[in-house]
Amino acid sequence: MEKITVVGSGYVGLVSGTCFADIGNRVICCDVDPFKIAMLRKGEIPIYEPGLKELVEKNIEAERLFFTSEIGDAIEASDIIYIAVGTPMGESGEADMRYVHEVARTIGQHLNRYKIIVNKSTVPVGTGRAVEQIIKENRKNRFVKFDVVSNPEFLREGSAIEDCMNMERAVIGATSDEAAKRIAELHAPFRTRIFQTNLESAEMIKYAANAFLATKISFINGIANVCERVGADVTAVSAGMGLDSRIGGKFLQAGIGYGGSCFPKDTFALSYIAEEAGFDFNLLKSVITANDEQRFVVVNKLREALGSLQGKRIGVLGLSFKPNTDDMRYAPSLTIIPELVNQGASVRAFDPIARQAARNQIAEYYEDFGSIEETLEDCDACLILTEWSEIVEMDLTRVKELLKAPVMVDGRNCFTTQKMADEGFNYYSVGRPAVT
Ligand code: NAD
Repeated sequence: MEKITVVGSGYVGLVSGTCFADIGNRVICCDVDPFKIAMLRKGEIPIYEPGLKELVEKNIEAERLFFTSEIGDAIEASDIIYIAVGTPMGESGEADMRYVHEVARTIGQHLNRYKIIVNKSTVPVGTGRAVEQIIKENRKNRFVKFDVVSNPEFLREGSAIEDCMNMERAVIGATSDEAAKRIAELHAPFRTRIFQTNLESAEMIKYAANAFLATKISFINGIANVCERVGADVTAVSAGMGLDSRIGGKFLQAGIGYGGSCFPKDTFALSYIAEEAGFDFNLLKSVITANDEQRFVVVNKLREALGSLQGKRIGVLGLSFKPNTDDMRYAPSLTIIPELVNQGASVRAFDPIARQAARNQIAEYYEDFGSIEETLEDCDACLILTEWSEIVEMDLTRVKELLKAPVMVDGRNCFTTQKMADEGFNYYSVGRPAVT
């Protein structure tokens, strides 16, 4: 049993802290946001993540999981301190490190005995060393020792608990073998593969992994755009490609591009890191540009289907960047909906979970509704932006009745073209022949 404090109780801190508690550790999750902590103390979860509420409740009851805004006290009470605060995109695309540095200062000020400081936030190479330096500068007693470890997070929002409990690997980067061993032991109940390396390589693995996945997405979207023009079907192409074990079938679904809190900022951050290091990472820059452009594919398809968008009413289904999350950070809908409005359309929209989060960001561009039925009533076309199960499973006959004309643009390839032809839709998807 380890005494762990997790600083930052967002998607990563809350999920990983809860999972560490669930495998038998005593975990204190803390945050600067007092509202978040007040909610958590009442057993309310500030984010939407399947299974999280039950797991938090279970571990609060078992007296293994605690919440506080007294960050200094929490640090003093534990032996392993996880840093899981945000590293958002700065003005030039760089990772904004102010929160990590702030936490490092607080840790330094409260270093009352030996501790292992583990960084879980996604951070540029060199951060572990910087954290070490900041702690040294701020500790009151220079004889109190500590070690810094990098243990980047790979969970996916929407299946975060599952990903944490059954993690494919734990990357542990450290200068001290002892500290690395202790963090490896902490992961033993997860029965995962441990990959141990130095601090710098561990930090780089996270960016490299995300940039590679983003590249796969932009690549298949490029292939999709070619498929459309030459009469091929990208779903068949990616299925055929994916059978090659060197390629693998995951992250080969064509659509409107990646979004969310990680890929956009991490690709920008890596591009910035490369530039600072004197390497012009052109491939990565193209991945980013291709992703930005891919958003507009569905806008062009709507124009193709309806002629001009002027005066047209579009029913948008799905706002979050992917299903099973309320995270709206860099969601494609944030770009697509304003563009539809710029082109003269009016927008009605539905999302089963991200409704409030979306309203907070682009409320002025659309009217939002609590059901698919209300959203699509009298619309000139339906536009799918997120493949929530209730959207994929909706009654297409009813959808046809609600729409003025049976026009659907599907940014997520939710249905087969055959099905949509049978249902009598004019159906435009990504990388597949249009059904007209
Ligand atoms: P988040 O914004 O959901 O949560 C960060 C939390 O840190 C917030 O609750 C914030 O109030 C808190 N915080 C900020 N400064 C603090 C301070 N000084 N002391 C205490 N708390 C403070 O962010 P997130 O999505 O959990 O991401 C955290 C890190 O993990 C980022 O670096 C991100 O890139 C990385 N990551 C995220 C995911 C993901 O899917 N969300 C996956 C892997 C890695």
